Amino acid sequence: MDILPLKNWLTPRSAPVIISGPCSAESRQQVLATAEGLHRTGLVSVFRSGIWKPRTRPNGFEGHGEVALDWLTEVKEKFGFPIAVEVATPRHLEACLKRGVDIVWVGARTGVNPFSIQELAEAIKGVDIPVMIKNPLNPDLALWMGVIERFYLSGIKKLIAIHRGFNTYEKTRYRNEPLWEIPIKLKSTFPQLPVFCDPSHIAGRRDLLQEVTQKALLLEADGFMIETHPNPGKALTDAAQQITPEKLRELVAALKIPRPIEENPCKEIEILRNRIDDLDSKLITLLAQRMTMVNDIAQIKKECKMTILQLKRWNTIMETRSLEAQEKGLSKEFIKTLLELLHKESIDIQSKVIT
Ligand code: PEP
Ligand code: MN
Repeated sequence: MDILPLKNWLTPRSAPVIISGPCSAESRQQVLATAEGLHRTGLVSVFRSGIWKPRTRPNGFEGHGEVALDWLTEVKEKFGFPIAVEVATPRHLEACLKRGVDIVWVGARTGVNPFSIQELAEAIKGVDIPVMIKNPLNPDLALWMGVIERFYLSGIKKLIAIHRGFNTYEKTRYRNEPLWEIPIKLKSTFPQLPVFCDPSHIAGRRDLLQEVTQKALLLEADGFMIETHPNPGKALTDAAQQITPEKLRELVAALKIPRPIEENPCKEIEILRNRIDDLDSKLITLLAQRMTMVNDIAQIKKECKMTILQLKRWNTIMETRSLEAQEKGLSKEFIKTLLELLHKESIDIQSKVIT
């Protein structure tokens, strides 16, 4: 893919690049107050705001729609910020294009529906506007890639992916599970694609923003989208996660900024990396030996007409390995996941031999 580098089309006001603004445009006064506060921080490269809000339940505040575009245009004129708005339908897109919105983004709820995405992608053909693509709600990399590809095929080369966390069955302390491995995989699949992190929607609460932002930075996020509001507690949407522009300044000031890889300040990391390469290679050899043995066992089980699954043996393996691993400082959760994976593979191998 021939995605344009961010620096070709966006002037960064700070490193890391920050996109900020309220979850929703609630009034002219609120929009301008947020923009003024953000302008004062000197950190923000793009001003964002939702004006059509997708709400989980009916009767919530659904945004002011097109009238709010007047407020955003005012922000652009007064403070010089490029403005970004979420679009979910070709009608939204048309309204934004008419009013000179600089960047549009596709939300997590829209991304799950290829029909909606196809309609948007067709409506945007021939228009030179950057598109930011939030990860769809489902933890499914292919779905996210599909949205990116549909816009790319429509000729959009100014693209940013935004990692905002995923809906999962098991809940932890986050509003949306980060599942960091998914954006990392996206980045390795499309190395030119800038991948931003949206800690606001991952965390869902102000007190977790700092750590989520820091973690994303250490995982090489290319920038951030963070929601701000002059009076966050009173916000009509996402009140628990928004922060004031002043708090945004504090958050950014407290970040530990990693050095660029090229500078390579710590040569000893190379020595450790070589050792890890070596250990990984040994691990792979050991795993291959283990699976060869599983195959031999399968032959015996077949001859002796034994079942594949021997629950007692499996329980013993889980118990003994788990204890041994914990004594060596490995986490219980990690060894459990690893053993389950090994067990599944062993069963698959044996099934092939026996059935
Ligand atoms: C938002 O950015 O305010 C928003 C609705 O985001 P998401 O689509 O990630 O839920
Ligand atoms: Mn929001």
